[in-house]
Amino acid sequence: MASINCPECRKKISNTAKHCPNCGYLISLEEVAKLEAEAKRFESKIAYIGLVIVLLLLIPFVKYQLNNPAPTPTQPKETKTSTMAFIQCKEFVKRQLHSPATANFPLLDYASRKDDINTYSIKSYVDAQNGFGATVRTNYTCKVQFLGGSDSAIKNWTLIDLSLTN
Ligand SMILES: [Zn+2]
Repeated sequence: MASINCPECRKKISNTAKHCPNCGYLISLEEVAKLEAEAKRFESKIAYIGLVIVLLLLIPFVKYQLNNPAPTPTQPKETKTSTMAFIQCKEFVKRQLHSPATANFPLLDYASRKDDINTYSIKSYVDAQNGFGATVRTNYTCKVQFLGGSDSAIKNWTLIDLSLTN
């Protein structure tokens, strides 16, 4: 049952009461309607304030989420090993060069393909001096197999195929 506040004594009374049981104030129908509307406005105001409070409480939480995005998952083992295949291929390529000390490999410019479990084909290039002291670019395709253990140790890799083209 809905209730309203008596306009005279402000006590809560039934909206169907003709007069206030506390102070005896006579309540007209218009007055009841007016008081009911007022009560409704008050309720919606409370709901609005509640919503604003909830939103204000959410701001720090949202800010925190924006400043601290979910940590990126650690690089999967697979990617690490294919990167290592590139690193080891560079060593195998160096052994074929006229002056390995002058070898200049690109940092990231290479294509890697996984041919089989633990077998990778790397396609890239190297700039190095030839027998005449001129720096030339050599493209290479290198196929290596990872034998297991630590993938950063060259002894754990086997060169399957290496082709160099100028
Ligand atoms: Zn009253």
